Amino acid sequence: MSQDRQYWDEKLETQSRAEWDALKLGLLQTHLHHAYANSPYYRTSFDAAGVHPDQLKTLDDLRRFPTIDKKILRERQEAAPLLGDLAAVPEREVVYVSASSGSTGVPTVSPFTQQDFDDWIDYEARQFWSSGLRPHDRYAHSLNFSLFIGGPCVLGAQKLGALTIHAGTVPSERLLAILKQFQATAIWTTPSYAWYLGETAQKEGIDPKTELAVRRIFVAGEPGGSIPETRARIEALWGAEVYDYYGLSDIFGSCAGMCEQKNGLHWAEDHILVEVIDPETGEHVPYGGRGEMVLTTLKKRARPLIRFRTGDIVSFTDEPCACGRTSQRLLGVHGRRDDMLIIRGVNIFPSDVEAIVRKDHDFSGEYRLVVDRVDHLDRLTIEAEHDATFRGNSTELAERLKDKVKALTGVGAHVVILDPDTLPRATHKAKRVEDRRGQVWTR
Ligand SMILES: [Zn+2]
Repeated sequence: MSQDRQYWDEKLETQSRAEWDALKLGLLQTHLHHAYANSPYYRTSFDAAGVHPDQLKTLDDLRRFPTIDKKILRERQEAAPLLGDLAAVPEREVVYVSASSGSTGVPTVSPFTQQDFDDWIDYEARQFWSSGLRPHDRYAHSLNFSLFIGGPCVLGAQKLGALTIHAGTVPSERLLAILKQFQATAIWTTPSYAWYLGETAQKEGIDPKTELAVRRIFVAGEPGGSIPETRARIEALWGAEVYDYYGLSDIFGSCAGMCEQKNGLHWAEDHILVEVIDPETGEHVPYGGRGEMVLTTLKKRARPLIRFRTGDIVSFTDEPCACGRTSQRLLGVHGRRDDMLIIRGVNIFPSDVEAIVRKDHDFSGEYRLVVDRVDHLDRLTIEAEHDATFRGNSTELAERLKDKVKALTGVGAHVVILDPDTLPRATHKAKRVEDRRGQVWTR
């Protein structure tokens, strides 16, 4: 693979929007037939809804088919262990399974045939290539390898020709030692961990910008990677470029990633069909609007996912990217449907607050949202740390944050300014919201 070629698969990646749609329609028709013929669940559910794969003549016809969600995956897996009856191949064809970390209930299993797995790894290579990773790079993969769908993504970097370091999740001192010894040029972790790791390095007297060689940081798992202010601060800390990736335990370790333009995440459009819907009405939301992401696999034979409601609130565009790639781009994951707080009828996401406190350098960047109910009314309290260098008036700082949140979201909040290092630092997925309203009602 020549280092200076621009695309992994030029013909595919730069085809017209009409060609993308034609490609997806053909794949979708084949995939629906496969699901209907081989998965007991889909046959029953399509029959019950009065729909048949033959009726799908356009991509829009997909909306007539029933949706599924995580709860259904879990129930069908319990009804038909090991793989559940959404599976559409016999177990002997399955060569790899991942399992979701599942904070509630039994983890759901995501099976791959050898072809599914090879398709996925080729896609990861394409995505890494679009983010500028090249065969001369030394790539340290510091995600969990234990059943986690993010683990095998390292094979995409390997396929691309990079020297890969299967670092895994190790204590930060150990990881820093690995980065230093190998002079790794690229790494993948979560945004909050990238920040934490950079700060830990500084505390140990290592300047990530000069003593480490990391120049590309891939991040996933939290909204932070698509918030420009968060990315900018991690980039400044490391002297590196940060690329946001999006993955889903039930499909691929990453389904989308930023190219070097860093203007949204190019979607794996030949593998996964996207719909964005209003979570309440189920109506399609036009490009640019926020809604729940619903995904349909187009090739994954082991377990097709047809209209899987992810719970992620997202927005998309199909406008051309300056890099020349024509695929749809994920503009951002604004939060989880479950994280979306409704305060006196108005929507607010933790990421809205994050964008403000990470842009304003009088704040440390750490924050938490606490919601409770006082006299039957919702009350939002934002706890935000001031930066260690801040010497101003805390009351004025609180007022400033309150005004900015009000201007951005329309929500009036009570703000508490905390000293630096008061809030627990996230070494994993940051806990940003504490909703105490349920406790009030059950009291
Ligand atoms: Zn691009």
